[in-house]
Amino acid sequence: MSGSLVVVGTGPGKAELMTPATLAALAKATDLVGYGPYLDRIPKTRPDQRRHRSDNRVELERARHALSLAAAGREVVVVSGGDPGVFAMAAAVFEAVETGDPGWRALDIRVEPGVTAMLAAAAEVGAPLGGDFCAISLSDNLKAWTTIERLLRAAAEADFVIALYNPASKARPHQLAQAFEHLRTIKSSKTPVLFVRAAGTPEAKVVTTTLAAADAAQADMRTLVIVGASTTRRIGRWVYTPRSEGAAS
Ligand code: SAH
Repeated sequence: MSGSLVVVGTGPGKAELMTPATLAALAKATDLVGYGPYLDRIPKTRPDQRRHRSDNRVELERARHALSLAAAGREVVVVSGGDPGVFAMAAAVFEAVETGDPGWRALDIRVEPGVTAMLAAAAEVGAPLGGDFCAISLSDNLKAWTTIERLLRAAAEADFVIALYNPASKARPHQLAQAFEHLRTIKSSKTPVLFVRAAGTPEAKVVTTTLAAADAAQADMRTLVIVGASTTRRIGRWVYTPRSEGAAS
């Protein structure tokens, strides 16, 4: 019997933001594989369901483990936070397929989309992603800091709204401050900057400031930072980016 592997995302935190397709995949699974805190978000509906908890840093190992369980006939669900394709497990699964047992290519593998942090964060403050935007992870676990600096500068030159994932690293606390320095050399000091912590949860907290005043110490690992484009503006407690160039200020 051949098994299956579905990669899902739990959404940003609150249960209502987990999609029905994800809940259906979870209900069918014989095995859940994921980082402990994400597995804890999933209600225990089946006592026979096995949970394989792992550390956050061992994504490729976790992906290989999930694939070998599926190859052994299990119905496996790999769990990420947010959307599984955004800086998360879906790419790790395909990397494991590419470099692993050729038999894994014939497996029934599926990805279910989820609500990623930047969408939940944007919704907390209005519509800052209303125009063209990009997402950059500031984590340098998998790429060089010089690459990240190049991405930041290019995104600023292109006048994208920029969503910054993984803004805070315990190992390198100065990187977000450095990122702001790069952006300040290119973007207006009045550019709106948003720190959205625990978006899409009852504990959500928003700090709205400007690029000139943005303080990197405001961000932790549960924060998403949004840096506006030249057209992004504040109206009262809301921030939005108009859809048309014509609305540029
Ligand atoms: N796959 C996830 C992202 C993983 S990277 C997704 O699609 O959301 C982890 C980073 O996502 C965190 O450091 C933080 O920047 C951001 N993040 C995840 N959940 C968040 C939330 N509820 N509120 C704000 N940021 C969040």
